[in-house]
Amino acid sequence: MTSRNGSRANRNANGKVDRWHDTYCPYCGVGCGLRVGVSNGKVAKVRGNPDHPSTLGDLCLKPIHLPGALDTPDRIREPLMRANGRGMGMGTPSADTGFQSVTWEKATTYIAEKLKHIIEEHGPGAVAFYGSGQFTTEDYYVANKLLKGFIGSNNFDANSRLCMASAVAGYVTALGSDGPPPAYEDIDHADCFFLIGSNMADCHPVLFNRIRRRKKSDPENVKIIVVDPRETRTAAIADLFLPIRPGSDVALLNGMMNVLCSDGKVDQAFIAEHTSGHEELLDTIGMFPTEAAARVCGIDESDLIQAARLFGDSHGVLSFWSMGLNQSVNGVAKNQAVINLHLATGQIGKKGSGPFSLTGQPNAMGGREAGGLSHLLPGYRTIANPTHRQEVEQFWGTPEGRIAPKPGLAAVDMFDAAARGEVKAMWIMCTNPVVSMPNIDVIEKAMSKLELLVVTDAYHPTDTTQYAHVLLPAAQWSEREGVMTNSERRITYLPRMVEPVGKAKPDWRILADVAAAMGFAHDFEFESAEDVFNEFTQLTKGRVCDYSGVSVGRLKAEGPLQWPVPGADHPGTARLYSSLHDGRSTQPGVENSAGDGRDAKAAAVFATADGKAKFNTPEFVPPAELPNRRFPLLLTTGRLRNQWHTMTRTGKSESLMKGAREPFLEIHPVDAVRRQIEEGDVVEIRSRRGRVWAKARVTEKIREGACFMPFHWGRLAGRFDAANNVTLAEVDPISLEPELKACAVEVRLRPGYEAIRATKLFQGLAKAIKR
Ligand code: SF4
Repeated sequence: MTSRNGSRANRNANGKVDRWHDTYCPYCGVGCGLRVGVSNGKVAKVRGNPDHPSTLGDLCLKPIHLPGALDTPDRIREPLMRANGRGMGMGTPSADTGFQSVTWEKATTYIAEKLKHIIEEHGPGAVAFYGSGQFTTEDYYVANKLLKGFIGSNNFDANSRLCMASAVAGYVTALGSDGPPPAYEDIDHADCFFLIGSNMADCHPVLFNRIRRRKKSDPENVKIIVVDPRETRTAAIADLFLPIRPGSDVALLNGMMNVLCSDGKVDQAFIAEHTSGHEELLDTIGMFPTEAAARVCGIDESDLIQAARLFGDSHGVLSFWSMGLNQSVNGVAKNQAVINLHLATGQIGKKGSGPFSLTGQPNAMGGREAGGLSHLLPGYRTIANPTHRQEVEQFWGTPEGRIAPKPGLAAVDMFDAAARGEVKAMWIMCTNPVVSMPNIDVIEKAMSKLELLVVTDAYHPTDTTQYAHVLLPAAQWSEREGVMTNSERRITYLPRMVEPVGKAKPDWRILADVAAAMGFAHDFEFESAEDVFNEFTQLTKGRVCDYSGVSVGRLKAEGPLQWPVPGADHPGTARLYSSLHDGRSTQPGVENSAGDGRDAKAAAVFATADGKAKFNTPEFVPPAELPNRRFPLLLTTGRLRNQWHTMTRTGKSESLMKGAREPFLEIHPVDAVRRQIEEGDVVEIRSRRGRVWAKARVTEKIREGACFMPFHWGRLAGRFDAANNVTLAEVDPISLEPELKACAVEVRLRPGYEAIRATKLFQGLAKAIKR
């Protein structure tokens, strides 16, 4: 019944909805299929789409509240520029402080001229773009093409760096290529779930519910291991919960490997045939006898051994992880250590098994495939590889050598370089780094130092837009079409369902217009998002992430597809590396979703030099900042179930705000008593970098010596300030992902709060006496 544009006439008795459209959730990387009702040109209702193969109609609360967050008074309706003009003749002053509205032509010309001037004066390396996992694949592609291929700067990075860069490096160093091997349907076949560094119940709730259903279907035989310093809602369904010290994951995982080896639970045949490096690994894990590993983790040795045995005795093990492993100075090693467990037991490429990193954002995967980090090029190519650079240059028709041979600046370095005055122009799109980056003081300094700061966003003010010289209105979800890919490699088409608010445009269109104004019109002649997508897919042909059999028309007609899809008649691929187990003579590769045994040539081997997966030798590195006398607690940060990122949309819903209107700090009772902190007190959390306030939640669900705070609130959000005032910008040396999960802090009552508490106590007593 779905029409070619993905919409369907309303067949329900609901008179309020004119038309239903099938689309995709703009929030987390689960990538749920949505069915959206439009009424009078506005998004009116959001439901789960039972026909979407990834999530079969399930969804969480967040997208249900999208209708109230789309056409709001704080939408940016037209291009705005600072009243100081920066050489421009200005139009009408906007109602907002310091900005005046201008035409698209003026804004575009100004940006193009200013960029050209800065490039001429300081070279292309003085220009940086900072994008987002909320970009469509088309946005990612055009931004990369302009900056890397035509301006000649590789300084394109995205907030995905904060999210999954360690997972990318983990896959590449172990399997030879990025790409999570399993599919969501594997949840229905696994009999052991190893959830580490992931509060799935809150952050990926639809997948968590699928695991819960699997557990319910066979409670005796399906086992769940949860590893987390916090006893989250995820831990509530665990058969075994391991509350390890923050940052000690590698010790745990190497200790588990030790048990698997000494118990003889490894798959020797698989190791011999399909892997390399196992001998070297044995030397490393020899340093992790279980007793020592358990001591590092702060758990019982017997629990560590039990975790390993549950893993080793299972027919199908699925490991899920997200920021808890990735956001660390040891993030890549943590990823490698999980993948090692799967390689040692042959738990990869078969139904119900595999290492499965979860992305935080709806199109972080599409960004990876489009080359959306500063060391990548489209189609899982890398800047450092001269052949890859040449292939892309030839395809783009850009002069040989235009793509600079060195990777560009990753997120933390990019803002540091701006703060030092080395990056002069930055274009921030679809993200809010003045809340989400660590150590916000540095980010604000960077914002203030730039000669040109262009911000494209749907809303203003945000903590970031207030620093812009030029502020451009972005058409957001529902107002633009495009393609996104979720954590299980499934590609979904998102239709334009309503008109953009005001004069807002899609990011790829804005970028292409600026490219044209810079003199590259011929190379950016895209009429539609579909044009952009078609060009991008050609660059994936023959690569592991092969989209060449995908077209917008096909996605509309057939629905979402899982890459690799190496031909127009290929049905897509449920899981990677499945032929490792089925004895087919073709190279190990993929199983298409039709299950007919055809392999996709593009993903037919581990993409390593010898075609074998590699055991790495992950070493335990403690968090960069350990507690000491001055800062005796280890703070970890994270997300809440009903909020998403910096709350520019979810924060607009009264229902979603219930339960946590203000930032809070979870602290163990022993640590609270030592500091005379009681439930509900306003406390100050102080690190070497700054301070933030929050309401204390005294709970045994967090380890003694650790504390937890959600990161959603920024400085604009109210009296408590931002969690990332205190976090640390140290990065993993390989993935360059910052350690947002651990920094040393001290906690005390907020200065002056003792008097408030005394007054409250007095008022309470007075009331009681009165009664
Ligand atoms: Fe959206 Fe994620 Fe919730 Fe699914 S689980 S509805 S993708 S926020």
